Amino acid sequence: MAERVIAGVPAAPGLATGHARLLGTPVAAADAAPLAPQERAGEAARAGAALAATADQLAALAAGLRAGGRDDEADLVDTSVLMAADPALLARVQQLVTGEGLAAPAAIAAAAGEQADLIAAIPDETLAARADDVRSLGRRAARHALRGDTAGALHAAGDAVLVADELGPADVAELDDDVVAIALVRGSATAHAAIVARSLGVPMVVGAGAALHRLEDGARLVVDGSAGVAVAEPEPARVAGARRAAGRRAAVRERAIADRDLAAVTPDGRRIAVLANVAGPAEVAAALRSGAEGAGLIRTELAFLDATAWPGEAEHRRMLSPVLAALRGRPATVRVLDFGGDKTPPFLRGTRARGLALLLEQSPAALAAQLRAALDAGRHTRLRILLPLVRDAAELEAAGRLLDEAVAATGAPRPLLGAMVETPGAAVRAAELAARADFLSIGTNDLTHETLGTDRFGGDEAVTHDPRVLRHIAACAGAGRPLEVCGEAASSPLTVPLLIGLGVDELSVGAARVGTVRAWVRATRHDEAHAIAAAALSAPDAGAVERLVSRAASRLELLERGDAGAEDADRLGRVVPVRS
Ligand code: PEP
Ligand code: MG
Repeated sequence: MAERVIAGVPAAPGLATGHARLLGTPVAAADAAPLAPQERAGEAARAGAALAATADQLAALAAGLRAGGRDDEADLVDTSVLMAADPALLARVQQLVTGEGLAAPAAIAAAAGEQADLIAAIPDETLAARADDVRSLGRRAARHALRGDTAGALHAAGDAVLVADELGPADVAELDDDVVAIALVRGSATAHAAIVARSLGVPMVVGAGAALHRLEDGARLVVDGSAGVAVAEPEPARVAGARRAAGRRAAVRERAIADRDLAAVTPDGRRIAVLANVAGPAEVAAALRSGAEGAGLIRTELAFLDATAWPGEAEHRRMLSPVLAALRGRPATVRVLDFGGDKTPPFLRGTRARGLALLLEQSPAALAAQLRAALDAGRHTRLRILLPLVRDAAELEAAGRLLDEAVAATGAPRPLLGAMVETPGAAVRAAELAARADFLSIGTNDLTHETLGTDRFGGDEAVTHDPRVLRHIAACAGAGRPLEVCGEAASSPLTVPLLIGLGVDELSVGAARVGTVRAWVRATRHDEAHAIAAAALSAPDAGAVERLVSRAASRLELLERGDAGAEDADRLGRVVPVRS
């Protein structure tokens, strides 16, 4: 049969092959015709077996975590084990199957959803925080039930390509280990789910449309996240190409691990800290294996995108504990909730404010609760608190006062306080902000779009090496405080020499890019980069900057291609077709 190329939009680069795992099926099955009465007893047994298998799987996971000394995480997983074995949940699932004729996956998803809604409505924040756990458990058990029929085929073949209508960033952060790629019906390349996929090095295509609905569960797929296509019934040569690409990615990972003890210092002696952008413990583990010095950006809001109210102190502690436990003794940069834009939870729908302004306007108490949780959970780390989308000194001072109160309330040492510069207005006030902060961190994703007047969430393209953006970065570098860059530009071959040349001290990048960026630092002379950056600041446009930095960027690309092939971000920070 001929290949079927399903065109979408590139979201996370790389080639991979596996078997389709249709994530929407449990939900779709809820609309299906009721099961015939004679099928229901068998289906109810299948649902019970799926819940039991999930409890066993989670118990094994908890035991593994405990054996590795990760007791905090193990305790959390143990709670989910109890939930999976809850007789009330099982009874409701069986009632939905035998009484209403729902298939096992749909019944599990529905019963878990009902239970989560009930828990979320309880006016006790510790209990309410369990609602997400029940939903997540429901998803996991529904998948178990769903795969009952096809488990042999999927597992025999190994790798899975997750196919879904849409995914949130939290879904991407907690992907099963066997997921090698993602293809979405909708979604946007600039949304945070795509950022998390890039961070983990999982190829992803979004916006591939309804053609994905025609795929059979378990069908062989090749996903080319760089070209933005998913290919059904792929030719053997295409499958072989994807397998080679996966092999090269594995080689990059191995090289990063082998080189993890080499310092990230330029040949002329300038040290650049390479840290990781993370949302959960899986990314921390991957980043540390590759030599990251710590976390330069913990995107705390990604765990709360389904929240129905401001998270309380206990919920924050639950989210932060596993991440901070993995960062013992290292820099751990907790960014306080950066809601707004494409990260707007249901209870904030309709708000136009974002970041720190949103927190201060709507709930300083919520910010205070998060600060106390971070201080408490981060005692054993080199904790830093990072404020998103800071607009001016008054906002920074207001947050600083809340931090002082949190320090007094917890008795924890005062962490460093950082301000994110993500708008031209903040960049113009860089000196004013620096006078009141311990460090600055540039969010180039927002700063680039805000400076160039493009729409980040509408999928507009914009390049950080535009001289107007570079001049903002230079203003921050001249403000006299340590400067971090934590946007995507920190891992693009075209911008890394410019950032080093402009005097940036720290680069915080997706976990899968840590090893590559550390190698780039070792290959970039600071004095040469400084000369290029100085010329770039007065260049007329982005094209001229590109020509100035082209040779340095090509050297870095070659370094990367030597291991991995050109299947990561292109030099413009966009994603390009892969030729393997
Ligand atoms: C940025 O804007 O560059 C940034 C790091 O923050 P986020 O991508 O989470 O908005
Ligand atoms: Mg931002």
